Amino acid sequence: MIWLNTLIAQLLPMIPKSLVGIFAKQYIAGETLGQALDNIKALNDLKISATLDFLGEDPKNRADCQAAVAVYKHAIQEIHRQQLNSGVSLKPSHMGLKIDKLFCFDNLYDLLSHARKYTVFIRIDMEDVTLKEDTIDLYLKLKQEFENVGMVMQAYLRSAIDDMNRMIEQRANVRICKGAYYWEDRKIAYKDMRIINSSFTYLLEKLFLNHCFTGIATHDERLVFEAIKCIDKLGVSKGNYEFQMLYGVQENLRNIIRDHGHPIRVYVPFGKEWFAYAIRRLKENPKMVSYIFTNGIRRMLGH
Ligand SMILES: Cc1cc2nc3c(=O)[nH]c(=O)nc-3n(C[C@H](O)[C@H](O)[C@H](O)COP(=O)(O)OP(=O)(O)OC[C@H]3O[C@@H](n4cnc5c(N)ncnc54)[C@H](O)[C@@H]3O)c2cc1C
Repeated sequence: MIWLNTLIAQLLPMIPKSLVGIFAKQYIAGETLGQALDNIKALNDLKISATLDFLGEDPKNRADCQAAVAVYKHAIQEIHRQQLNSGVSLKPSHMGLKIDKLFCFDNLYDLLSHARKYTVFIRIDMEDVTLKEDTIDLYLKLKQEFENVGMVMQAYLRSAIDDMNRMIEQRANVRICKGAYYWEDRKIAYKDMRIINSSFTYLLEKLFLNHCFTGIATHDERLVFEAIKCIDKLGVSKGNYEFQMLYGVQENLRNIIRDHGHPIRVYVPFGKEWFAYAIRRLKENPKMVSYIFTNGIRRMLGH
């Protein structure tokens, strides 16, 4: 239904931001760090680990990026102080990749050194394809020095198999997801969900076979089943994988996976810059898609 996502994206600007905000709230763990940490504590009490994301992917200048680094540093200290079972996730653009790659590297290096002191793991999210090569390059450089760093692979990319082979050589710590930047060109990304799912399971199996730690990031129960089959077939140990889900999505499935003894982590985003993140989530929500679709059509017709 990628065509539908594209249509929804065109309709979304017609929906007032305040209305989008009402629906977006379910996906955001609060605007402040304190609220997000309280939510992580609640997840930990349910035997679910977390990865904390400070929202923001469009910093205007270096000062914005440095402010984000400061927030992450404080968050890492608090995770340690409160003994929370949580890592952090961050976007390279938030660390300045669109401004200057070396500046971004320095920010990541600084944060990873800080996180290492507090034994906190940092995962570098993957954004749209224009940032992919630089993100992989930064990751591989940082991995030479740090154990506490992981990256993300998007199964919808046609380059995913080649990229994965590079990751395997380096024994990377990888989160696999379908990919959220649905506007990628057909030359770059698969558009057929059956192929994306097949790519996801192929990448998963190959990473398992090569003993790379793998985060299985999906809410798609078919993929959860494929992953469980693969874990069983290859005898993957619990220390070598975990399921990952987004805050506010498919909590029932999340609890079922946990109750069957699989490790599970939730991605917990917080902050005032929730709009871009929320739009990606709303377009993936089948109920919201139909809601936004009917409202968008009504507005276009002037009702
Ligand atoms: C922990 C985690 C980290 C991620 N990191 C990245 C990243 O770094 N880069 C990147 O490009 N993408 C990332 N993603 C997003 C991912 O690429 C997908 O866009 C997203 O997870 C939806 O894909 P899906 O596998 O859940 O399958 P889908 O086919 O989209 O969803 C399967 C089912 O899950 C339910 N569902 C899914 N999303 C929602 C929602 N928002 N609201 C309500 N129900 C929903 C629906 O029932 C749907 O039918 C991440 C996802 C997770 C879980």
